[in-house]
Amino acid sequence: MDKINKSEEEWRNELTEEEYHILREKGTEKPWTGALLENKDTGVYECAACGNELYSSDTKYESGSGWPSFWDPIRAEAVEFVKDKSFGMIRTEVTCGRCGSHLGHIFPDGPQPSGQRYCMNSAALKFKKN
Ligand code: FE
Repeated sequence: MDKINKSEEEWRNELTEEEYHILREKGTEKPWTGALLENKDTGVYECAACGNELYSSDTKYESGSGWPSFWDPIRAEAVEFVKDKSFGMIRTEVTCGRCGSHLGHIFPDGPQPSGQRYCMNSAALKFKKN
């Protein structure tokens, strides 16, 4: 996949304040607030920063966490994983495979067949209806 490398100034100009905070400063939106949390339409969830296709609606499920949750990315290289030791926890951060923006975290308590929960910030996603 061709990587996108933009300066923080470019990202600041292109993204809303909330998007910038989450995507570029690894922020987390408040649970139960995201616009895509309850979305049940059929389509594809893309990176809000670069448009990289991340998740199909086929893998979205109700995790009860308050954040949009998926059990698998649309293709393996769509996302990347980074060890995150912030806030005194050891977690695995999920970043966009194309632009490196922060999307959320992954936890091993998801449904089968993957057993994984991709816990995403709604503001890091854009939904494209099929
Ligand atoms: Fe991206």
